[in-house]
Amino acid sequence: HSNPLGTSPKDIVARDKRYVWHPYTQHGTEVDPQVIARAKGASLFDTNGNEILDLISSWWTCTHGHAHPKINAAIARQAETMEHVMFAGFTHAPAVDLAETLAGLLPGDLNRVFYSDDGSTSVEVAIKIAYQSWVNRGETRRRTLIAFDGGYHGDTLGAMSVGRSSQMFGAFKDLLCDVRILPYPATFEGDDAVEEREAGALSAMEALLSDHKETIAALIVEPMMQGSAGIRICRPSFLKRLVEMAHAAKVLVIFDEVATGFGRTGKLFAMEHAGVTPDLVCLSKGLTGGYMPLAATVVRDRLFDLFLGHNFDRALPHGHSFTANPLACSVALAALGLYEEEQTLARIAEINARHRTMLDVLAARSDVTRQRVLGPVLAFEVAEGGAYQSEASRKLRAWYLANGFNIRPIGSTVYLMPPYCITDEELARAYAGMVEGLDRLA
Ligand code: PLP
Repeated sequence: HSNPLGTSPKDIVARDKRYVWHPYTQHGTEVDPQVIARAKGASLFDTNGNEILDLISSWWTCTHGHAHPKINAAIARQAETMEHVMFAGFTHAPAVDLAETLAGLLPGDLNRVFYSDDGSTSVEVAIKIAYQSWVNRGETRRRTLIAFDGGYHGDTLGAMSVGRSSQMFGAFKDLLCDVRILPYPATFEGDDAVEEREAGALSAMEALLSDHKETIAALIVEPMMQGSAGIRICRPSFLKRLVEMAHAAKVLVIFDEVATGFGRTGKLFAMEHAGVTPDLVCLSKGLTGGYMPLAATVVRDRLFDLFLGHNFDRALPHGHSFTANPLACSVALAALGLYEEEQTLARIAEINARHRTMLDVLAARSDVTRQRVLGPVLAFEVAEGGAYQSEASRKLRAWYLANGFNIRPIGSTVYLMPPYCITDEELARAYAGMVEGLDRLA
């Protein structure tokens, strides 16, 4: 039908501003959104065909690049066969194949997959499973959760609770559950105080475990890299010690690998850096190569066994209309297959090596501090910066966008997290643009 308000880019923006409410957006001050018409590889294209390099992989989701022919084919094939079926009382090959594949890729007995729709719901499910597993065991005193300062796990109620230290969710504080916060020992190139910070975090953990003996249900952490807190990287030895302490106190460990999974830290899963196995792991974003909303909470066999019985009270009261959507599961299988077919982890290592050549360039700048690289991620702080969506960070974002780069600083943190298909030429362009943006706004 013809739209009386028009379909030119200008008209789309006008109608957007009339009808649409965007995520994490202050519509009172936000500049007009950019209309994206097409996406291919590492690039987005506006309605005039102008290219924007997607250097943050569209909120870290896009792993193999936009419009990958093999993933496109998988979604088309599945759409012809079965677009959706409810997942209670029914099952289907894409969901089973994907669960088996994930179980094979994850270490130890992380074998049981509960599907949901996005990162937040995978965290919600993890919290509910952890909590109910104690109820099912009859240890009903274990109700407190431990999370990290700066941790972000999504914005449903449980996820906001464990992300409460971000101060973003103040309006909901009375709805949130009991969570204790540990300091996060973030590190960077040339950091000479990391051991001290790690010792501080571990002794805070020790104090928590002894003050709250047998009342802590679970610990949740973004392993190796806190994303939304501003790409804060920790050392594998810290992660390992943390998990050992939690397990010694019978505390369940939830790894939120929503952002870190599928190569984002250089290994398929961030847990591989530390050689540890959590009790639950949350996966989403890159699970479908960034194509579709799908998430998985994968748990150890013995945790699943605690939900078995003859009584529905022991079962997990959770599920969504679109649980294990076949289109999304087929897409995820295709996306996972590409790691072998395209030797994706080897390409990630090359991206990492290129990022490392930027460390000296950044170190030479007086307006940059705390530069760091992990896998395909490069990050640093700019002196001008400040809070989330500060004036300075908005200006920097606007300059980058106007010049063809999707780089969105988080407060004072500027970072690149490109799709793995990015070419060397595109990377060189990204570095030059990133630096020019700093020069222009200096
Ligand atoms: N967990 C982590 C570590 C995340 O980075 C995010 C999103 O950025 C989430 C959970 C929430 O995921 P979603 O936005 O898909 O709900």
